[in-house]
Parts: sequence; C-alpha cells; structure tokens
Amino acid sequence: MAAIGVSCRGLVSIYRLEGYDVVALAGVDLDIAPGESVALLGPSGSGKSTLLSVLAGLMRPAAGRAHVGDVDLAKASESELARMRAIDVGVALQGARRNLLPYLTAEQNVRFAQRAARSPDGFKPLAPREVLSMVGLAVRGRMRLKPGSLTPGERQRLALAVALANRPGLLLADEPTSQLDTNARDDVLLALEAVRRSGTTVIVVTHDPDVGGRMGRTVTIRDGRVGGEGHSGEEFAVVGRDGAVHLPPDVLEILPPGTYLRVTAQPDGSALLVPAKTGDTVRLDVGYAPPAATTSAVQSVPSQWNGATRQLGSSAPIVGDGVHTGRTPAWPDGPAQYGEDR
Ligand code: ADP
Ligand code: MG
Repeated sequence: MAAIGVSCRGLVSIYRLEGYDVVALAGVDLDIAPGESVALLGPSGSGKSTLLSVLAGLMRPAAGRAHVGDVDLAKASESELARMRAIDVGVALQGARRNLLPYLTAEQNVRFAQRAARSPDGFKPLAPREVLSMVGLAVRGRMRLKPGSLTPGERQRLALAVALANRPGLLLADEPTSQLDTNARDDVLLALEAVRRSGTTVIVVTHDPDVGGRMGRTVTIRDGRVGGEGHSGEEFAVVGRDGAVHLPPDVLEILPPGTYLRVTAQPDGSALLVPAKTGDTVRLDVGYAPPAATTSAVQSVPSQWNGATRQLGSSAPIVGDGVHTGRTPAWPDGPAQYGEDR
C-alpha cells in the first residue's frame, strides 16, 4: 500500500460529557506528507491521543477539516471509515496489551488482525512472519510465544506488527516506547524506522524528547493546537491561522501570559516582541471610549477596561488582568493552569 498523507485545517474535537464539553483539539493545522515520520510531543492532556483517534477514524471532527489520504474524516460514511480503519491505517493504542489477544501466539495475533480485515478486492496479506520480521520479531522461538511470555519491548513491537498486519499506508502509534528501558526503546525505534523505510507514513505520540529526535520531524501539541515544530533538531514556533503563536517555555518565563507586548516588524524581515515597561501608557481601544478628559491621566487600574487608558505603575513586565476579554483570567496560578478551562 502506498504511503498516505494527512492534512488537518482548524480541526476541533470535543468530548461531550454530562453537563459540559471538553474541547480536546482547538484548531489543529497540520500537514504530514506521505512517507514522513513524525513524533507528536506535548504535555499530558494536550490532545495528542485525541488527534490520533481522529486520524484513526475512531472519533469524528467536531469542526474543521481532516483528511487521511483521500478520505474526508468529517464527511466519510461509516463504511468508508471502517474500510479506512481496516486497510489504510494501522493503529497501536497506548499500552501494548490493549492491541493483543493474550491467548494467541505472536504469529497468530498478526494472522488474526489480517483475517479481521480481509477485503473483497483481492488484497493479498503478507505472511505473518514477514510482518514480524519488519519489527525484528521473526525470531525462532519468539513467534510461537503468547504476549504474556514476551518481554515488554517485544510485546510493544508485536503491537506494532499487529497494526502493520495489513500493510497500511499510515501507522499511528500512541506512546509505543513508554515504560521501556533504553535497549527495548531503541529496538522499537529501529522497528519504526524500518516501517518508514518500507514506505509507510509513521505518526508516533511520545513523551520522550529523545524519541522525537530520532523521528524526522516533531510536532508539539499544546492546549489542543500545534504549539511548535522541530526539524533536524531545531525548534520552531508556528504562527496559527488566527495569528496566534505559542511562546516556548523559556520565553514564557520572561513574558508570562497576559504580558502587554509591542510587536513590531523589523526591516530585516524579523519581528520584535517588547514587553511594555513601568511608566508606559497603554491605551486600550476596546468598545466604549469614555470622554477624552477622563482618559488623559488615569492613575489607577480601572475595574473595566473599555476604552480606558492605564498609567502603568506596577513593576515590569506589565501583565493584564484579562478583564477586557470578558472572561475570568485564564492563568490564576501561572502557566501551569494554561488551558484548564477546556
Ligand atoms: P494527551 O494524549 O496529550 O495526554 P488527550 O488527547 O488524552 O491528551 O486529552 C486531551 C483532553 O481531552 C484532556 O483535557 C483530556 O482530559 C480530555 N479527554 C481525553 N479523553 C477523554 C474522554 N474520553 N472523555 C472526556 N475527556 C477526555
Ligand atoms: Mg495520550
């Protein structure tokens, strides 16, 4: 099967719970070319697994667009999605055992995955042994073992083999190296590299920056969006469609959420972010503007920001209170709270 690319535009994903919704993806823009290998990084709860679920066709986009190859995940019928899940996309869920049948041997697990997906259009599956050899498991004596008798690393590679059983064009693997020692982790990474070389697009969720470094490209998900990308070891912020930029953690230290910035384009094509300093006057042209006489020398912070001018008297850098946005401050206790209102 030819490698399959992925494209997301403003992808939104929502978990609907009793009485409230959780927005897990809040506008993901992402393109992954056929044959690329990409690591999805990001803090826990940022939406990595949700993104994988959407790409696997297990969860529909709530808004925005998402394509896996030619399949439009928002518009596809249930049977198109089922076909995509069976043939085009291989998924290894987090936790190797969840992907395996404990009473079948390694070889039988692969065969079972092939049988479950057999399609009518004359598709010939690989011999299970060949699939296992791609992940380094076609070892005499190991193929005949049940998952419980394999090492954790072998079990994880078997989970990948099961996902690869039908030669998908896209492999999605959620945390395939978590809870593995370094050697086992490296074996899994070698297996993923072999998969990519065989012409399969690989998307791996990981917590491990080292794993990210071994993939061609990293995409950091923060707060349900693409927060940054790494190419050949260099980290980049990505300007979102709405113009928003996620600042990296070291910059957030000096420019905490709510900081007032002067953002200016420079002649050399770069841009400068300069925090407003003590003594600066910041004019907020939001909504109703009070008469000019009252705005010229306001000394204290008004309770409502609409159209007010504020003499900045506190210590630099200046941090807004968020009142003018019409909602409670998003970060009552600093950046750790970021996105908690999702
Ligand atoms: P990650 O994989 O990056 O840790 P997830 O995609 O699992 O993040 O979660 C993203 C957000 O969606 C989190 O706020 C999480 O609590 C929420 N979430 C994930 N799964 C569910 C679910 N089944 N029901 C409700 N909320 C969920
Ligand atoms: Mg996860």
